[in-house]
Amino acid sequence: MKVKVDQEKCIGCGTCELMCSQCFQLENGKAQVIADDCSGADCDIQDVIDSCPVEAISIEKE
Ligand code: SF4
Repeated sequence: MKVKVDQEKCIGCGTCELMCSQCFQLENGKAQVIADDCSGADCDIQDVIDSCPVEAISIEKE
């Protein structure tokens, strides 16, 4: 499972980084996914996805 942040949509609000700093980090005002395999071990990734105000976070299933 891979987590993606749509760079066009992200407004850099920082919510995802606050909720899961192991997976997300803000860089130049946009959230980057810093964990290759965000398995939701330390957070509820669905919760983070639902909390993004612009629905920029998505999961890619491989
Ligand atoms: S919660 Fe969404 S809009 Fe906010 S920084 Fe994360 S990806 Fe960007």
